[in-house]
Amino acid sequence: MPPIMRRNSFVTFTPLRRLALPLLLLLGTLLVTTGLFWHAREQGLAQIRQDAEASLGRYIINLRHQLARHRDLPRLLAAQQQLKALLTDPHNPRKTDAANRYLSWVNAIMGATDSYLINSNGLTLAASNWDQPLPFIGNDYSFRPYFQQAMEGGQGRYFALGNTSRVRGYFFSSPVREADQIIGVTVVKVDLEDIEDSWNDALQDILVMDEDGVIFISTRHDWRFRLLPRPGALTPDDQLLARIAASRRYENAEVRPLPLQHRDTTTHGNQLLTLDGNEAAGHYLLVSELLPEAGMRVAVLANLSPLKARIARTLITGLGAFWASAALLLFLRARHRMKQRHEHELQQAHEALERRVAQRTRQLTDSNQRLKQEVEQHQQTQNQLVQAAKLAVLGQLSAGINHELNQPLTAIRQFADNGRKLLARGRTEAVDGNLAEIGGLAGRMAAILQPLREFARQRDAGGAQTRVAQLRQGVLVLMGAELEKHHATLHWPDDRDDIVVAGDAGRLEQVLVNLIGNALQAMANQPAPRIDINITTDDARVILAVRDHGPGLSERALAHIFEPFFTTKSTGLGLGLSISHRIAESLGGELSAANHPGGGAIFTLVLNRAHKEPA
Ligand code: ADP
Repeated sequence: MPPIMRRNSFVTFTPLRRLALPLLLLLGTLLVTTGLFWHAREQGLAQIRQDAEASLGRYIINLRHQLARHRDLPRLLAAQQQLKALLTDPHNPRKTDAANRYLSWVNAIMGATDSYLINSNGLTLAASNWDQPLPFIGNDYSFRPYFQQAMEGGQGRYFALGNTSRVRGYFFSSPVREADQIIGVTVVKVDLEDIEDSWNDALQDILVMDEDGVIFISTRHDWRFRLLPRPGALTPDDQLLARIAASRRYENAEVRPLPLQHRDTTTHGNQLLTLDGNEAAGHYLLVSELLPEAGMRVAVLANLSPLKARIARTLITGLGAFWASAALLLFLRARHRMKQRHEHELQQAHEALERRVAQRTRQLTDSNQRLKQEVEQHQQTQNQLVQAAKLAVLGQLSAGINHELNQPLTAIRQFADNGRKLLARGRTEAVDGNLAEIGGLAGRMAAILQPLREFARQRDAGGAQTRVAQLRQGVLVLMGAELEKHHATLHWPDDRDDIVVAGDAGRLEQVLVNLIGNALQAMANQPAPRIDINITTDDARVILAVRDHGPGLSERALAHIFEPFFTTKSTGLGLGLSISHRIAESLGGELSAANHPGGGAIFTLVLNRAHKEPA
């Protein structure tokens, strides 16, 4: 497979492209982080603000309710005769006692903290706590704004630290009039400290401040009498602090500013505060509402610490989702690219394969063409060779026939010439001898030509049959003289004489004569040659074996013995066995040659068995 080209878009990464993905992820992370941060912060702030506003609302309702319960009480007291009576006769112990008892009775019924009566000089004449350890009676409250407000004819409202009880409370006051003259002031004090103990929200603190920002009530004890500077400022100015100290509103309590480190305003107009210091350190949201009728500002200071956790949670979830989505996208992208790459590789492999197939097909077509040409050339060459071989065979045949026939022809000419000479001399008896010789030689020539005729003979399709007895006798007649000449024995038992074979006697004899003749020639140097003929049969076939005791067949002879013109004899034509082979085949049988294990050659002629008697 060829390597993937570098120019492919999906494997080429320029440095810029390589950086693009990390940069994109970084940018995405930054954007997501920023977006999530602001979203979570805004949501969290909104939630905290809503909670704080709800708390504030609840607290203000309670506060207003509590204040409303006592707001008109001083006015009611101012109309009471016993109190007026005491103001007009302040040193009367009976009137003092009556006023005291009345005040404590009303105070108890209304659930106020303290109720008391002050004369026009600010001196307390009677008080609900007259029988308590530190009664107000005898105290001078002329410095209190609520006294001054009432003396000016108004309904006084003020909150301050009680200078005797040291209990922080809200003071309602009302002028006591007698003939259009203000002769004194009634005061009802309401304790507002309950809230500090009943408040149990760890993340929110309730602050009640005066107009100057002094925290008067706080669910966080250490913030009492601390000052929250006016919006925008981190510290109060010294003049304000001096004025507050001079008012003695909070007696000797030291008014210190809250340790503000930073402050900000939200889009909703709420204050964001960062406080320093050991216990209060942290970020807060301040939600406040001014109660002008009470001269106070009520605030809820909500701790922003849950915001961090919320932002962290949102960031973790959001970034997790972002990274998971990014990872999924990257995975899908990588998979897509890999698929593309595989498809491309597959395509390339396919194309390469097609190219190779085309190339191979071309090569095969070429080589096929070449082979065809070569075959044609070979055919030509073979034809030429066959022609040459034919010519050679013709030459050999001519030479053989020439050799075989020349001798008897020369002899015949000799005998004929001699016969004429003998005839001229009148020796007719001698001429007869010569003629007999000529006749013999002609017979020999006929015998030489006999096998050549066989070559030309067509395969015998006829159904000739021969008895073995006939064959044996025929061969003995034909070969008798020759066997005798060689002092040879032909061992052919007559116990198989009744067997009938397919084939005509003439050609069968020719084969056997040829085999026996060759055997005799092979044993020419033996004094008493012996030839054994053995016949075996089965249902269909007759096997006739001719064995001699000569030298046997060489390897070369075994390989070529049935080929025409194969001969080892100087005078042989090499046609005898080739013709015999053809005859055996033409009779539907076969002829084979081998060496006998006991020495000598053995030729096996297999013939078809005929069951019918020959006609
Ligand atoms: P030819 O007799 O004219 O040579 P054949 O075809 O009859 O032709 O025999 C071919 C050759 O086979 C012989 O030249 C001889 O070498 C060999 N041959 C045939 N018969 C025998 C045998 N019985 N023993 C040894 N060699 C044989």
